[in-house]
Amino acid sequence: MSNPLLNKTVLPQFKHIKPEIIKFAIQSLLKENRQKITSLEELNEEYRWDNFIQPLELLDDRLNKAWSPVRHLNSVKSSDELREVYNECLPLISEYSTEMGQNRKLFEGYKQITKSDNYKNLNSAQQKTLKDSLLYFKLGGVDLSGEDKKQYQFIQKRLSELKTNYENNLLDSSQSWELILEDDRRLKGLPEYAVAMLKQYAEQKSLTGYRITLDMPCYIAVITYAQDRELRKEIYQAFSTRASDQGFTDKKWNNAEIMVEILKNRKEKARLLGFSHYSELSLQTKMASSYEEVVNFLNELAEKSLPVARKDIKQLKEFAESEGFKEELMAWDNAYFSEKLKQLKYKISDEDLKPYFSEDLVVSGLFKIVEKLYQIKISEVTKDIETWHEDVRFFQIMDADGNINGKFYLDLYARNGKRGGAWMDKCVNRYNINNEVQSPVAYLTCNLTPPIGGEPALFTHDEVITLFHEFGHGLHHMLTRVDVPEVSGINGVEWDAVELPSQFMENYCWQKEALNLFAKHYKTGESLPEELYQKMIRAKNFQSSLQMVRQIEFSLFDIQLHQKNDIETELDIQQILDAVRDKVAVIIPPSFNKFQNSFSHIFAGGYAAGYYSYKWAEVLSADAFSTFEKEGIFNKQTGKRFLQCILSQGGSRPARESFECFMGREPEIDALLRHNGIDV
Ligand code: ZN
Repeated sequence: MSNPLLNKTVLPQFKHIKPEIIKFAIQSLLKENRQKITSLEELNEEYRWDNFIQPLELLDDRLNKAWSPVRHLNSVKSSDELREVYNECLPLISEYSTEMGQNRKLFEGYKQITKSDNYKNLNSAQQKTLKDSLLYFKLGGVDLSGEDKKQYQFIQKRLSELKTNYENNLLDSSQSWELILEDDRRLKGLPEYAVAMLKQYAEQKSLTGYRITLDMPCYIAVITYAQDRELRKEIYQAFSTRASDQGFTDKKWNNAEIMVEILKNRKEKARLLGFSHYSELSLQTKMASSYEEVVNFLNELAEKSLPVARKDIKQLKEFAESEGFKEELMAWDNAYFSEKLKQLKYKISDEDLKPYFSEDLVVSGLFKIVEKLYQIKISEVTKDIETWHEDVRFFQIMDADGNINGKFYLDLYARNGKRGGAWMDKCVNRYNINNEVQSPVAYLTCNLTPPIGGEPALFTHDEVITLFHEFGHGLHHMLTRVDVPEVSGINGVEWDAVELPSQFMENYCWQKEALNLFAKHYKTGESLPEELYQKMIRAKNFQSSLQMVRQIEFSLFDIQLHQKNDIETELDIQQILDAVRDKVAVIIPPSFNKFQNSFSHIFAGGYAAGYYSYKWAEVLSADAFSTFEKEGIFNKQTGKRFLQCILSQGGSRPARESFECFMGREPEIDALLRHNGIDV
């Protein structure tokens, strides 16, 4: 094929994806797509799946396969040149997709097929695709005309730019901060690995001494362990003022105006489409049916969790006092004293567990778990596989009959030029093209602690949970059996249900039977001692109520922010956040804290008026896992049912139906509260 972003192997050839070829390749692909679409619009026969939708699917699939590796590289191997061309291409892609969403002729085609006699002969995945597509057209503004249509197009393009700017500001501002220490005097209290990591960070920049950055592993280590209160304050201040007008950040990276503009554009978009608020628009593609349902759900959780959270914070304050701490407990003290209290109560720290979570064993253990559950086999492939970094590995998943179900790239470590956080992204969608199945491919990306000083990488338990979580998303994408790409894997799954398979996987990090498969000392091979395991379990719900109320705070802030139509300044945003905190927060951060300026989930990502989805889906995943607790966590029948009812179904039907297929009833909140140690 002539387009350099496409090739016969399906897998991207990363070394060919050079910044200088990208724009032309994308442009010519879009041009070709547009030409083919014009010919489809002029079809002189009755619209059917095979002569209309399938050709459109193929165009979409091709564009996805070309663009996905570019988007991915921009996230994991960013460079100025790549970012520039990526930013030039984004508006082209978004313009194209806006155009598709507003194409009346295509819309008519979908409608015709939905109303035709052939409709009943289509399978349920195809019917769901049609239903989703009609909604997509509606939300894409297909019914708009004249000025409204132009305005809608402008908004879409502008929103896409604003989101990119928000993300870039955050990255640039995060990476611009560093603190170089000549010696380790201020690092008292930090575990050995963290000190070594900071030394390594300095060496990477050809510096002597220690280099502190705002990378997650670094931030967590300092805020949790540094005895030096000033140092904790310094890093807290830097972290919580990223991309704002406070603290160290260069003002050019301030996200304040971008946030206001994003909200105004979203409000306007909702109005154009006939919705009263952006939240209403957002909920069209969710399992929850209304703003009220979401708020009631969050309030119910808050009501149950707040009493426990208040007790937890009181206990923390008393403990700090008992340690001779006379001042007021500030935001930069919480993690530090919490860790000490945890030590005292449970005599367990991340450091005790890390030797039992070495990379090789954790990764192979994770594979063993899902192999047992779903009767699959995962193996590494090295031949003819190109990656973007030497640390990246590639695997394939085979079912019991030896068919390849899916493939994935695994990129575990934090490094320069890589966006923070952890995520799963789609590289290729499962698609049955005239009985030839294109198997799905995923990118699994984390920012875990890298190997230090020649030792294998040792993970904290939290990091293990992160890996399991992302792998759960990966399985959802890769174990799908749905043949239609629009609803295969995570495609077409409601936002607030999409975290079900990922959060479900986290449960396995707490089960002895599962840990036995991988938690072994990296030097001696000794299994995680029972005593340590018991401590870990007892400590599991330590302050979990605090995390719960924090998530509720973020969720309420997000949904209420998108239920307001009068946001004019950053102060309005702050006021909403403050009001939510008054109601549900037990820790009120200092006024310089500009958490909202780095809340990229809702401003740059897809979680706008949808952050509650994490908790919503957690209800589903906890509830589903309670069945495994009853029937056995490796029960093959239960695993098979979970695979058939939920994982393999993708978005081919409403998530509520998939859930009820597995559970035989509607979701209940109790298991989640129980898993968090909150009595119901
Ligand atoms: Zn997730």
